[in-house]
Amino acid sequence: MDMTFFSVDKRLAEISDKAEERAREAFARIDAIAEYNQQKVLASFIRHNVSESHFVPTTGYGYGDRGRDALDEILADIMGAEDALIRHSIVSGTHAITIALFAMLRPGDTLLAATGAPYDTLEQVIGHKTPSAGSLAEYGVGYEQVELDENECPDLPAIQQALRNNDAIRVVHIQRSRGYCTRPSLTIEWIKRIVDAVHEIRQDVVIFVDNCYGEFVEKLEPCQVGADLIAGSLIKNLGGGIAENGGYLCGTKACIEQCAYRMTTPGLGREVGASLGHNRSLYMGLFQAPHVVGEALKTAVYAASLFELLGYRVSPTVNEIRGDIIQTVFLNNSENLIAFCQGMQKGAPVDSFVVPEPWDMPGYTSQVIMAAGAFTMGASIELSADAPLREPYAAYMQGGLNYASGKIGVLLAAQSMFERGYILNS
Ligand SMILES: *Cc1c(COP(=O)(O)O)cnc(C)c1O
Repeated sequence: MDMTFFSVDKRLAEISDKAEERAREAFARIDAIAEYNQQKVLASFIRHNVSESHFVPTTGYGYGDRGRDALDEILADIMGAEDALIRHSIVSGTHAITIALFAMLRPGDTLLAATGAPYDTLEQVIGHKTPSAGSLAEYGVGYEQVELDENECPDLPAIQQALRNNDAIRVVHIQRSRGYCTRPSLTIEWIKRIVDAVHEIRQDVVIFVDNCYGEFVEKLEPCQVGADLIAGSLIKNLGGGIAENGGYLCGTKACIEQCAYRMTTPGLGREVGASLGHNRSLYMGLFQAPHVVGEALKTAVYAASLFELLGYRVSPTVNEIRGDIIQTVFLNNSENLIAFCQGMQKGAPVDSFVVPEPWDMPGYTSQVIMAAGAFTMGASIELSADAPLREPYAAYMQGGLNYASGKIGVLLAAQSMFERGYILNS
């Protein structure tokens, strides 16, 4: 690779070339999926006659916002769902998931987390581990959790047993992404297995999938294998790096209707909600998303390949089938983690001059260091890394708006470790 604009140790640059060579096959698979999903999105835009008029902003109540309503239909179409809601006014992924859970659960019902503990921010939404104001627990919703089995796979017999033991289970929660755990992400194939196992015991439960980080990673989406309701964030995959904020929900007509009444108010539902000029970026982001997800996946695969060659354990490995855009690199000690994150920050298009330091992040028991230099605050479809300073000293990295820049971020992370004498020092 030509390194005209960045200084990287010559040996490291050679290893980088080798890393890329090893990733060829995986890159080809990613390209094929991105192309399939891009066609799916383009065909849907064409079928729905998207025009400039869809980008016209509404204000006030936002009645009759054509662009907003058409984008709901397009998203449903793309995700293989009956219906969808995509809004800049859903503030985050956690908000979208919260809408889904509060929409589908009633006092006396039980939520079953079928793939272990849900993502950190949901702990206070559920409210069972630690009491929290406004939580599902305060409304009298019960909670049960089935852990993954000893192979870190969904424990289908245990999920079925939980359903047999408790008639009050109304929603089954599945998380597609690994989040910030070391478990593998779930493939669509695994989601289908869980759906089928649940349906063997009960047909009347709502199967909910936290789809964060999973969109467009495969050809199929969870609703196409039987999930009733899914949710996610627009500053991750589906926003394509263009949406400035937002969230979405997709699912059956019945589920989305309930969600619409929870998202705004009973009675008003989806009829209100001014788009305030956000439609254009939501359309454009959704259009770009298959490609950007592909670029983020290639960045992740490159990182896996490079750090494996440098002697570190990575998950997933280069040719493993991926269910999300997250790459875990096990760096063995905190010095490595700090050097990694500080190096990655140096390759960011925004805030490259900032030096990230470990800090006591609220809600975490150990210090955390983060690298992020993004156009959109907190957007993790842009190259970023988070690392709690504790065993197994794993850096969780994701994103990359385009592969050429994502690769530099990863390479500078390695270069930073090199400059401190942690790698290639023989
Ligand atoms: C990011 C994420 C969330 C929460 O989304 P926010 O937009 O950060 O609120 C939930 N679940 C998973 C698996 C995530 O990765």
